[in-house]
Amino acid sequence: MATTRFFIKFAHSLTSLIFMMSFSTTRPHGGGSALRLFCLAAVAVGLLAALPLSAQHKTKAEMAMERVGWVDLQTVAPLVKVSLMYARADNFTGRVLYTDIRRAYLHPKAARALQKAAQALKAIRPDLSLVVYDAGRPMSAQQRMWDAVKGTPKHIYVSNPANGGGLHNYGMAVDITLCHTATGDTVPMGTIIDYMGPLAHPENEAAMLKKRRLTAEAVANRRLLRRVMAAGGFKVLRTEWWHFNLISRAEARRAYKVAP
Ligand SMILES: [Zn+2]
Repeated sequence: MATTRFFIKFAHSLTSLIFMMSFSTTRPHGGGSALRLFCLAAVAVGLLAALPLSAQHKTKAEMAMERVGWVDLQTVAPLVKVSLMYARADNFTGRVLYTDIRRAYLHPKAARALQKAAQALKAIRPDLSLVVYDAGRPMSAQQRMWDAVKGTPKHIYVSNPANGGGLHNYGMAVDITLCHTATGDTVPMGTIIDYMGPLAHPENEAAMLKKRRLTAEAVANRRLLRRVMAAGGFKVLRTEWWHFNLISRAEARRAYKVAP
């Protein structure tokens, strides 16, 4: 974010300078400077067009998250990769739930905690990285998710926005896994993210390993994920190996705000 802001300021200053220069040179010399003015204007337009999309335009959902003080995760935790699953249709609802969230946003405390977790992972396994599948969610996105599952058995996995939402809505939860740093390919975890059932419950891992429904590699990978997330202060959810909360829901309700 700081880099983007600097770039915008730089582009705007340069554009202003170019216009000032073109006026100061056009007046005394007249005709020959029209081409110069055109060239300088073209340079200015080119500079503005080169701005990243996110800097040119933020969606309503992204602005709602920034207004409650959340930050673009990768500006705070550059080691963490992002691959938002609800921006694609291959999630448990089978639908694209966001077209208006293109970056992972979190409460700054959660973003800093995740950077700590990423540093802990880098210290022991630099060949692996954390990859975030979902982060902070405004209530508008939560409502779309709820609408996609209400009246189906899947509704138990989604917080009803009418009841105040969940920790994703406070920017204090992430859905996350491990990937190879070089390729971005995720490591085996025994189930896909958003798998619904006992095989995804961390407390069942020892029993599932005995029954050979989980491999030793998958269990070791889940343990590694929990270990590095704990270094940042995150706790895993009882029913989802990929979901981590930084604080309790009671604490969130007492001291923090949801994004609308
Ligand atoms: Zn989650």
